[in-house]
Amino acid sequence: SPYQEDEDYEMRIRVIVRKRPMSKRESFEHGDVDVIHPLDYTDHGRILVYQPKTKLDLAKEVETTSFAFDNVFDEESNNMEIYGRAVRNLIPGVFRGKWASVFAYGQTGSGKTFTMMGCNMTGLKAGNQEENFSEANLGLYFLAARDVFRIAQEPEYENISISVSLFEIYGGKLVDLLNGRSLVKCLEDSKGKVCFPGLTEHPVHDAEELMDIIEQGSLNRSTGTTSANADSSRSHAVLQLSLRKDVGRVKAKEHGRLTFIDLAGSERGADTNQASKTTRMEGAEINTSLLALKEVIRALATGSSMKRIPFRGSKLTQVLKDSFVGKHTRTVMCVNVAPNMRNCDHTLNTLRYADRVK
Ligand code: ADP
Ligand code: MG
Repeated sequence: SPYQEDEDYEMRIRVIVRKRPMSKRESFEHGDVDVIHPLDYTDHGRILVYQPKTKLDLAKEVETTSFAFDNVFDEESNNMEIYGRAVRNLIPGVFRGKWASVFAYGQTGSGKTFTMMGCNMTGLKAGNQEENFSEANLGLYFLAARDVFRIAQEPEYENISISVSLFEIYGGKLVDLLNGRSLVKCLEDSKGKVCFPGLTEHPVHDAEELMDIIEQGSLNRSTGTTSANADSSRSHAVLQLSLRKDVGRVKAKEHGRLTFIDLAGSERGADTNQASKTTRMEGAEINTSLLALKEVIRALATGSSMKRIPFRGSKLTQVLKDSFVGKHTRTVMCVNVAPNMRNCDHTLNTLRYADRVK
């Protein structure tokens, strides 16, 4: 079966890197050059970053930094390949009650939303004709949901129902995107389990319906005025697919969960040189949350005791706490990078961050 879980897959966190193609604008208008070289091997990947000072340096031997990750994907790769190699094997576990999360990390414009939501939903709508629109570039949301709903058809899962929540974490607040922009609290019950009283959980029956719900909800995302990309780059978007098992009680029992997090632009945190005070504060908030995420993942990897893991370091980590705890959780971090020389410093920062979480 294509859904067979890879039993060798022992890692709790898998870090993959995806390079997007050069845009026509970068190549032709800005005369920029490609400095990122992914090398993909069967069981691991390397990525080389050339650091020329000028374009002319490219002909010489230049300083090069190299990083190793679980998989790396070059500009020829499509969403289907990423799904097939790094995400699909999470799905069977979700039907056995496990939790899994997939993060997209990277600077604004590096391809996070393209990977998660797919090309049909992002650039194409904005009139971007460069994109290679095809079924292979439907997003991870859709590709995962399609498998989830296919498996849910099997008779043994007759009593499983699936629902979706979509919210963003913006300026330290949780904003329900399926209910206007109502604010939701994140609380912990007496057992330390995270709950979101009042968060909308919309029942969903197939991948197409899910995409409609996401599209509607995305209209509620926060918008900023400073740049064309402000909407998605300053907040973390969280999509949760929850499986519940009907065990004859009033409320169906919580079963597996699959969470996707399209993180705020990683450059936002570093950028303190912003025009307005609000934007600076947002930058600080994003910085805190991305650092806290790294600390939590590192603490988990080194086997720290639960009590010592700094979930409370940010709203993001507080909200996602349950997605990390327990033996039954798995995490994939998809690190998106731009290919061009002008973004090289951001790319190096992104890869250093990713190097610390693996
Ligand atoms: P982010 O969400 O990280 O800010 P986007 O996903 O919006 O970045 O991508 C920025 C632009 O690059 C968009 O126009 C998008 O369609 C395009 N793009 C990103 N990744 C790819 C890819 N793998 N192939 C083709 N175009 C891409
Ligand atoms: Mg985006």
